[in-house]
Amino acid sequence: MSADAFRWPDDCRAAVSVTFDDARPTQLDAGLPILDEFEVKGTFYVVSQRCLGRVDDWVRAATNGHELGNHSLRHSCSGNFLWEGRNVLENYTVEQMDEELAEASRQIEELLGVRPKTFAYPCGQTFVGRGIDRRSYVPVVASQFLAGRGFRDEYLNAPTFVDLAKVGGTEMDRMTWEQILAHISRAKERGQWVVLVGHDVRDEGHQGTRCEVLKRICSHCTDPANQVWIDTVANIAQHIQDSRACESG
Ligand SMILES: [Zn+2]
Repeated sequence: MSADAFRWPDDCRAAVSVTFDDARPTQLDAGLPILDEFEVKGTFYVVSQRCLGRVDDWVRAATNGHELGNHSLRHSCSGNFLWEGRNVLENYTVEQMDEELAEASRQIEELLGVRPKTFAYPCGQTFVGRGIDRRSYVPVVASQFLAGRGFRDEYLNAPTFVDLAKVGGTEMDRMTWEQILAHISRAKERGQWVVLVGHDVRDEGHQGTRCEVLKRICSHCTDPANQVWIDTVANIAQHIQDSRACESG
């Protein structure tokens, strides 16, 4: 669709989603209280097995309007990570991934009561197989979900162009507020959608989104003067899809 035809709601100039992967306990204990303080709705990409110890807390998060998305059945990534006890993407087929993602959605719905609308690629990796048999599993995600989110992508998302099955994700862990604000400012200049990706919510560690930075994101994006729409991946992806349907229909 043409760039002129697209509008973010309420005169906003950019969109932001705050997402967290792996259902880590610090997301419940440190992340959710910050989001709830600012009435910001986040997206949590969960593996159902990792939710077992805190089922009631995850159900409550969903009831409060946060999005629970699919983060695969086994968190399968490249075998080069040398993690123990996992199926590795180099040994998958597209058909196996199709079955596992459907099973993961079924388990999440059974355990947490919500059917995932969007997906996050574990490790941001979108392939199965190796060599001449290597394939993308983006088409599987496109067939099962409204949107699929990447990780460590070098672009922000242009709403008139983005492939919703491979939405770019921008790292939030370890970042300073100034670094995040630079992304948001760039998105406002171009009308783009920033999808931030975090893991733990804590003030130390390689995979930790800093509490103060999360607060600044929420505070900035909920101030109407800043003209940013902050919402879940599902809600923003749905707006983009509806806009396209509207123009073509
Ligand atoms: Zn993950």
